[in-house]
Amino acid sequence: MRIYEFAKQNNLPTKDLIKILDEIGIKGKQTLSIITEEEINRFKEIYFKKEREKKEILLTGKENVKELSQKFGIPSNEILKYLLEEKIIVNINQKLEKDIIQKICEKFNFIPVFEKEEKEIQEEKKEKIETPILVKRAPVVTVMGHVDHGKTTILDKIRNSNVAEKEVGQITQKIGAYKVDLPEGSIVFLDTPGHEAFTAMRAMGAKITDIVVLVVAADEGVKPQTIEALDHAKSANVPIIVAINKIDKPNANPEKIKQQLSEYGLIPEEWGGNTVYVNVSGLTGEGINDLLEMILLVGEMLELKANINCKCEGTVIESYLDKFRGPVISIIVENGKLKVGDPFVVGNTWGKVRAIIDEWGKRLNEAGPSTPIEILGAHEIVIPGEKLKVVDSEKEAKEISENRKREKEISTVLPVKRLSLKDLYEEIKKGEIKELKIILKTDFYNSIDAIKNIISKIPQDEIKINIIHAGTGPINESDVLLASASNGIVLGFKVPIEPKAKELAKKENVEIRTYEIIYDIGDEIVKAIEGMLEPEIKEELIGQALVKKVFKLDKNTVVAGCLVVSGKVVRNSKVKIVRNGKIIFEGVLTSLKRFKDNVNEVNYNNECGIGVENFYDFEEGDIIQSFINVEVPRKLKGV
Ligand code: GDP
Repeated sequence: MRIYEFAKQNNLPTKDLIKILDEIGIKGKQTLSIITEEEINRFKEIYFKKEREKKEILLTGKENVKELSQKFGIPSNEILKYLLEEKIIVNINQKLEKDIIQKICEKFNFIPVFEKEEKEIQEEKKEKIETPILVKRAPVVTVMGHVDHGKTTILDKIRNSNVAEKEVGQITQKIGAYKVDLPEGSIVFLDTPGHEAFTAMRAMGAKITDIVVLVVAADEGVKPQTIEALDHAKSANVPIIVAINKIDKPNANPEKIKQQLSEYGLIPEEWGGNTVYVNVSGLTGEGINDLLEMILLVGEMLELKANINCKCEGTVIESYLDKFRGPVISIIVENGKLKVGDPFVVGNTWGKVRAIIDEWGKRLNEAGPSTPIEILGAHEIVIPGEKLKVVDSEKEAKEISENRKREKEISTVLPVKRLSLKDLYEEIKKGEIKELKIILKTDFYNSIDAIKNIISKIPQDEIKINIIHAGTGPINESDVLLASASNGIVLGFKVPIEPKAKELAKKENVEIRTYEIIYDIGDEIVKAIEGMLEPEIKEELIGQALVKKVFKLDKNTVVAGCLVVSGKVVRNSKVKIVRNGKIIFEGVLTSLKRFKDNVNEVNYNNECGIGVENFYDFEEGDIIQSFINVEVPRKLKGV
């Protein structure tokens, strides 16, 4: 190879390469000189080592492999090779995420110094100049609880009995939230009751709920979803007020509910705890005012503040496409004031506020903190939980949203890495995780206690094991959401996984493991903590044979004359015998013959004789499925 070619390969100007070669004792080279294999090795050994003594390097944090290669003076191939080893698959022109750049720097012995973008510097400056002016703001409340315990009724009652006179008769718009103004202060209620929406928002990184009202029907008491809601609220660290509803019913038993919930840590104030309980009836309205008062009181203690001396920021609570008005986005303003005409960025899109509409359908010129509003003027709809931010100009709004779109493209290639049992050991060693959060679902209530007991015996000096939610029944979407929002894993014992939950887990990269033997759960966690977890083995169907004739050689020797109808069948493989769509036997394929010869496998469309250990009842028409065990490959990191 000639020097100029070698220089090109290493992304070095020829002149520099010649100088370096000279320095390391390979003297007298010129552009067209040949560089020998030996010299190349010497160069690589000395030069890269020298280069790799930790060196600071100025980066933007948005480079692609090609740009990094130029800045590092290291061939792109080496970087790509390293990324591949780390199971990160990118192309050379694809912008990398900052933490991946950091990783690459570490590998190649660079200390990255990320330069701030002009815009960032300016923003920082501006933020410094604008001293925040904090004002008290209204609490935002989510109502949760078991289905049919009266969440919607309570929300409707609060809304309808607190309508100001001027608004009576006006039709309310469903904009995702509404505000109640009382003499002592205001409260914002989110319209979508339930913990799923709440946790979905949290999984997006949005935390708009300040207080959770947990509704429990006094006649029914604590139900599975009550506990689910309670755990979702707890894991978000949000104060909980318990509303004991349906107090008008003759069989209402509020004391029992207090007792039940005390077992879950919600100890009433009158029993020395700090949970507020209020008896209400969504139907008659009894106690509703007390509930509102308590919400204000708890809100008061939280000292909720908003900054009014900044550009408006808000969180999306709903969004839909209107045939006539275009994309409609509902937000709750968090800081600053939103005004008609403001250019804004929201999610990956942008716009200019064309109209601000309140829950009564009234057009406003501006809206301040803790106000739910609907705005027109966005270019696209967005997902609840996204942030809205006002910027200086439409040009800036467009630029930022285009940047975000690009970044999103990267992040779809590299989805968020969430915790898995497999990676637990590494994460503990790196000190990145100190707590393993588990969502546990089991078949019966007794199993929960048994599993909790097993887990409590696992030594927890290296990592704390925290079961943030335990319940019975199939693994559902809400379990996966909770795991996603809390960076936890879902463990199931003798329970199925709902298809939607499976889909969501795949999307959110949440690990679900299910078990049939109770002790396996503890064993696997221990192994995971010790980094000894064996790879998961999965059966894979490799072929099927149709039984065409049955040969009974003697009582204990029955051979099925078969035709391989798909894939291949393999001797000593695991088999399942299927009759009329049902598995009637599982065993091992112990004898496989083609004509007179024993063979190891028989391929598609060939006839063969099959014997299965301990199975003598073949019938014509049975299907013999042959399986092999495959190791489920380690999930590609970050892919
Ligand atoms: P959600 O599923 O929790 O939103 O429950 P709903 O608000 O839809 O209420 C379920 C049922 O309980 C409805 O038939 C309501 O009329 C009834 N309900 C709600 N609150 C009360 C109450 O305080 N007293 C009585 N007696 N019934 C109520």
